[in-house]
Amino acid sequence: MPSSTYPGTVEIATFKLTVVDVVEQTADAHSISFVGPEAAAAELAYTPGQFLTFAVPSEQTGVAARCYSLSSSPYDGGPLTVTVKRTASGYASNWMCDHLRVGDQIRVLAPSGIFTPRSLDADLLLIAGGSGITPIMSITRAALAAGAGRVVVLYANRDEESVIFARELGDLAAAHPDRLLVVHWLESVHGLPTQDQLQAFAAQFTTYDAFVCGPAPFMKAAVAALKDLGLPRERRHQEKFVSLGGNPFGDLQDAARLPSQA
Ligand SMILES: Cc1cc2nc3c(=O)[nH]c(=O)nc-3n(C[C@H](O)[C@H](O)[C@H](O)COP(=O)(O)OP(=O)(O)OC[C@H]3O[C@@H](n4cnc5c(N)ncnc54)[C@H](O)[C@@H]3O)c2cc1C
Repeated sequence: MPSSTYPGTVEIATFKLTVVDVVEQTADAHSISFVGPEAAAAELAYTPGQFLTFAVPSEQTGVAARCYSLSSSPYDGGPLTVTVKRTASGYASNWMCDHLRVGDQIRVLAPSGIFTPRSLDADLLLIAGGSGITPIMSITRAALAAGAGRVVVLYANRDEESVIFARELGDLAAAHPDRLLVVHWLESVHGLPTQDQLQAFAAQFTTYDAFVCGPAPFMKAAVAALKDLGLPRERRHQEKFVSLGGNPFGDLQDAARLPSQA
């Protein structure tokens, strides 16, 4: 199995994934699905809420390492799927959306992360903004398929056109009316959600385990709201979407192979 050495750390295994599907979710977000080598099935197993780290090839730096949360559920036998939203002037997010097509290959690190429910049977309050829906989608799908609790999703977006997974969330809510509540917050209609508004909503669910993912100011307001409501630290989880500073892949010669561009 290929591996790379990150200065000061042990060798890290890397895996070559093959693209099996690309879906344009919105004008600026793509869901990209992958399969890995059969022999690496155990290493590529994941829990809902985890992310993959991609070796995005770069002519400038060799590799730009970027994390993308899995939006798929490990319980439906489907491929590994991440959902990448273009960052204005960003490098890797635009490369992923512009270049990856069915049949292409790209290297990743094994799934990682602790933004995962302790139990899928717990009641879950999931608060997402924009592309922060990706790990929340995985947790929602997994909890409905393999858990027994109630799931509440509060999902904030700029406007209706920017809602990723609008249809999927609607379908899940229709299929699980007694277990899933999805509330959409549109800035174009309701304005930016304030801490007080988030607190008033979350006040209905203070016994739930809370997960927050979205733009920094949104997360700050949501987490402050949960703190003020007295949710203990162990029931407040947040995932920050930032770009990695370092490159855990080292000097990879084969970060990606794009027959689709040949
Ligand atoms: C745990 C985790 C999960 C995440 N999950 C998701 C997710 O599900 N969906 C999602 O959309 N985002 C997710 N993100 C955010 C994602 O990892 C990136 O931060 C985001 O896509 C922006 O990356 P970018 O390269 O496009 O933009 P930026 O990082 O803003 O790009 C600019 C940077 O790239 C450098 N750069 C510019 N040109 C080049 C070049 N040619 N070669 C190399 N470097 C260059 C610049 O120096 C600058 O540092 C997640 C982040 C984390 C930490």
